[in-house]
Amino acid sequence: MRVTFAFPHGTAFAPDPSERIKGVRAVMSTSGMPEATAVAPDERVRRFVARAYGIRTLGLALGALMVGVVLYRNGAPVSVWGLMVAHGFLWPHAARLLSGRSIEPARTERNNLMVDAAMGGVWVALMQFNLLPSFALIAMFGMNLIAVGGPPLLVRGAALQAAGCIVAAVAGGLAFAPHTSLAEMLATLPLLTVLPLTLSVIMHRLARRVQRQNHLLVQLSSIDGLSGLLNRRHWEEAIAAALACHRQHGRQATMLLIDIDHFKHINDQYGHTVGDEVVRRVGTMIRTSLRDGDLAGRYGGDEFGVVLADTDPHTAEMVAERIRSGVACTLFDRAPGLRCTLSIGIARSDTGTGDVREWIRRADAALYRAKLAGRNCFSGAV
Ligand code: GH3
Ligand code: MG
Repeated sequence: MRVTFAFPHGTAFAPDPSERIKGVRAVMSTSGMPEATAVAPDERVRRFVARAYGIRTLGLALGALMVGVVLYRNGAPVSVWGLMVAHGFLWPHAARLLSGRSIEPARTERNNLMVDAAMGGVWVALMQFNLLPSFALIAMFGMNLIAVGGPPLLVRGAALQAAGCIVAAVAGGLAFAPHTSLAEMLATLPLLTVLPLTLSVIMHRLARRVQRQNHLLVQLSSIDGLSGLLNRRHWEEAIAAALACHRQHGRQATMLLIDIDHFKHINDQYGHTVGDEVVRRVGTMIRTSLRDGDLAGRYGGDEFGVVLADTDPHTAEMVAERIRSGVACTLFDRAPGLRCTLSIGIARSDTGTGDVREWIRRADAALYRAKLAGRNCFSGAV
């Protein structure tokens, strides 16, 4: 499922980092189980290009406002005004077209950023090194370069910026007027405030999304793919915590250890695909038979563990019977003659003094008694 994107850092410009974790998006299904679905590459590229386009459009428009005020004071020629309009208002759309049509949008977007960096240097020279606007341009482009590619991209961008500045200064006849008027200061403020704030909002949203998806990925890693229940390690951890909590509050919980009868025979007779389907259906039956606070896990190949919170043995037997009879009535499309049965051992938390291992051992002993009693039944706690 891994999808890699040739972009080194998660940024407002880069493909959404949350989408690069594994190329999956975790969502909660109607059964409350996390499910993984692939994020369509087209959608990922579309979002990425749209984000870069929005930020460039805003940033260059604000930059053009500032540059325009400086050019006006300097009495710039028409050609320079034309260049400003082209870069400030036409280039963002051209860059979007280039990225959108590219087979490597991330790489194209980096190249677009290099164009921006070089043009930043050009504007510094054409503004005759007007101090505050020049500083603002260098800072804003530097911020984007670091956000997209870290220090290495900043170094490359800075080199291009310097080159752009030198070429424009030489071509335009070196002029130096660093003084910033009040009007130019005011024209610089939108660029210095709106753009960083917008970028911060975007980064914050991306960070939140990454956080949410990390959380869901942790949940996914704790779930057995076939049965949809907790895997053994996470189930044992969860019930150890539950046992400690119940003891602390003087409450009782009951464990069911559930084993599919003659599962090896089912595999041998119907094949492993049907065997897998049996595990899946038993998992679903267990899950749908429980309440929210109960803990169900796949303990082994054909063995499942359930801890029923705040449940006395009599109620636990009712739950066990519900699961047993539900599975016994289950029909399998691919194996019409198959009837699957379960044996279930039941153990209370408040009769033993030991830890989780000891609790499981008592449930296992009860399960053994159910098997000895002829299978397709449960054996209660003694
Ligand atoms: P009993 O009635 O005493 O429980 O016998 P059994 O055949 O169910 O138990 P046994 O332990 O002999 O066999 C369990 C089998 O389950 C062996 C193993 O190949 C199979 N198995 C374990 N995990 C899976 C799985 O994920 N899918 C399938 N199809 N089979 C599995
Ligand atoms: Mg078995």
